[in-house]
Amino acid sequence: MVNRFFEVLSPDCVYDSLKLVLEAGGHRFEASAREIRELGWKQISGASGQDDDLEDEVNPLKLSGLKEGDVLQITSAEVQRQVTRPPARYTEATLLSAMEHAGRFIEDTSLKRSISGTGIGTPATRADIIEKLLSKYYIEREDRYLKPTAKGRELVKTAPPQLRSPELTAKWEQRLAAISEGLEESSRFSRDIREMTMELVENIRKSSAVFSPDYKDAVKCPVCGGLMIHVQGKKKEKISACQSLSCGYEEIDGRPTRKARAMERSAVRKYDADRSEDSNTASFADFIKASEERRSRKRKR
Ligand SMILES: [Zn+2]
Repeated sequence: MVNRFFEVLSPDCVYDSLKLVLEAGGHRFEASAREIRELGWKQISGASGQDDDLEDEVNPLKLSGLKEGDVLQITSAEVQRQVTRPPARYTEATLLSAMEHAGRFIEDTSLKRSISGTGIGTPATRADIIEKLLSKYYIEREDRYLKPTAKGRELVKTAPPQLRSPELTAKWEQRLAAISEGLEESSRFSRDIREMTMELVENIRKSSAVFSPDYKDAVKCPVCGGLMIHVQGKKKEKISACQSLSCGYEEIDGRPTRKARAMERSAVRKYDADRSEDSNTASFADFIKASEERRSRKRKR
């Protein structure tokens, strides 16, 4: 804190910077270098040894004596075999920032500009979008990283290409800006959105693509017999969730969630009402009750 304060009050750090463009064997090589003239404010953290990049700058490439057009001698050359690494997974913070600066994923400069002030979503909705992806199990947590589930990967694979790119948001932003400047009719924009939605739905309806995520370690849902997937929760708890749209049964660390228990109770009420007064036969509600009792006995053991 004290250092920062002194740094603010100190003179500028003055340096020469040089960009070298070298040619050898028909290939272009680039290098840049800095040579510090006066340390200025960098002297302060330098003295306490806190500045990490100071070392590079105190011992810069010796620039003096280099002129444009100089011919240099290659003293050694070496071919290195390198492997590119895939981009790092997003954390919640980096994903929020990627949504905010979604323009960086767009090539077209005018589109890039139209989204630069807004990004995808708004400051108020971006975190909610991520929460929704988590709660619907399109992504899951792996420590502090977020990773797509089989369901999420399948969604991206089968979704129409327009919906996978921030370009759509950018195009809409561009048109909204035109509307606010009185250059476009808002009714035309609404009509286009409606038409596009109908077209997308129609294409999906006609498409032969099947949404069939590869749930590797799925187990059978005790309520409907559908597939239950496993994801890691916020506190590293193991969540199992039924993927049948009409079911929604969930377990956390092997126990039915409050929502799942409420579902069972409402099913019992619903099917209990079906039972006729004088009937001696078991109703569907009896089966659900029996299954719940069996499960709670198992838990106590
Ligand atoms: Zn189910």
